[in-house]
Amino acid sequence: MKLLNLFNPRLRTYANPVLLAATLSFASANSWAQADHFDQLPDLGSNAANFLSDYEAEQLGKSFIRQSRYRIPYVSDPELVGYINRLGNRLLDVSEDAGKDYHFYLIDNNVINAFAVPGGHIAIHTAILTKSESESELASVVAHEISHVTQSHISRKFENSQYDSWLAIGALLAAAASGSAEAAQAAFGVSQASIIDRQLTFSRAYETEADSLGIRLLSRAGFDPQAMPVFFKRLLSESRISESHAPEFIRSHPLTINRISESAERVRAYPRAPVQDQSEFLLMQAKATAGYAKDKSVVRDRYAAQLKLGNTSLPNRYGYGMALAENGEFDQARKVLTELEKDYPNNVSVKLIKADNELNAGEINTGLAELKDLYIEQNKLGNHLVDIYYANALVLTKNNQEAIPILHQAIANNKDEPYFHILLARAYGETGDNLRSYQARGEYHYLSGNYAFAIKQYKRAFILTSTEYERARLGARIEDVEKELEIVKNL
Ligand SMILES: [Zn+2]
Repeated sequence: MKLLNLFNPRLRTYANPVLLAATLSFASANSWAQADHFDQLPDLGSNAANFLSDYEAEQLGKSFIRQSRYRIPYVSDPELVGYINRLGNRLLDVSEDAGKDYHFYLIDNNVINAFAVPGGHIAIHTAILTKSESESELASVVAHEISHVTQSHISRKFENSQYDSWLAIGALLAAAASGSAEAAQAAFGVSQASIIDRQLTFSRAYETEADSLGIRLLSRAGFDPQAMPVFFKRLLSESRISESHAPEFIRSHPLTINRISESAERVRAYPRAPVQDQSEFLLMQAKATAGYAKDKSVVRDRYAAQLKLGNTSLPNRYGYGMALAENGEFDQARKVLTELEKDYPNNVSVKLIKADNELNAGEINTGLAELKDLYIEQNKLGNHLVDIYYANALVLTKNNQEAIPILHQAIANNKDEPYFHILLARAYGETGDNLRSYQARGEYHYLSGNYAFAIKQYKRAFILTSTEYERARLGARIEDVEKELEIVKNL
């Protein structure tokens, strides 16, 4: 009985129970998202000459991220999401956009790629986390993407690559927000064709600028700048071995020998960074590798082989335990994780997957008790990481009343994660509180970019209201979202 795997891709479908009737193809969404980099423009100097105002960039970015949640598998595991955001912010803090509100996302995809969206949204495919050989390598991709945003490359792309693709994207977002899948599909057709066209024509100057600024960020944030040319060189040689598998990253951020030598040259000016503490990186890499692997038994065997060779580091043992659990070998996983917990009694990550394994093994009481202890202990320390794991387990085991306040707390700490709201909708629904269930469903659709559908849910909730206060609150919410829908339509 698989209970707690909602954070894993195969059960992600649960998190999106009400998909658009005709979802757009994943491929179009992807190529669109990748088309963020256009260059070989004559003038890189006029940073201020953006076609997009900051406000427009923010609206566009927010809308893109929200509506893309329907078709791009964003990782919602709070540990992984927290990790990529800490890493991203460490780089952002030393950039010229320090203090601005950026968002970093992981996308469950084993193709090497990353993209940036206006408004400070940066998405990294899990493949970059799992295939980096050091944290600095992962950081070099993030730093490169941050630099595309700080230099307004994407906005300038709109300026230079003409009005039509900008209009098409605006139309797409409006269509998706209005709940019209067909209109969105049509808009996608236009934008995709024109963007792919330009994607092949422009590029190098922006890439060089993003590399050069990225290297500076790496050095300032205490990462090893050398990692950038090293990672890119490996990507390039891998793409040569198998041309059909050329990482998407190379296509969307054209990578040439010249570009790599230029960055290698630039890196020489920077001091080598001191040795890094990579413990969190390695653990999260193992979590992404074992938790999001397409071929789970291969990953399990790889970890087993590592352990046999004597590589008994925490991340290897953790990855092995998690891979066993993912393969349904719960008893074996329990042995590995119990030993691991003995050796690392204060490691929250280990405790989380150990409890998860118990729940999946059908040992509901044991799993819940372990999570509850951890939840209480971590809350005392002011750490809310465990909240959503515990609430998730409570909802799935129909302990809805207990889950509801914890879900509210989790939402107060992270109000942009749609998954939390759909859990809350389920918990309220099962306790018979339809008003709040519809309301939570509305939030879920709102955060997923389908504003029209969100408004429908709020209106359903509105009918069930019994107090003036509730009516006023919901009425105001409906008005706000209607306003936002208008803004998106007019982008
Ligand atoms: Zn790039």
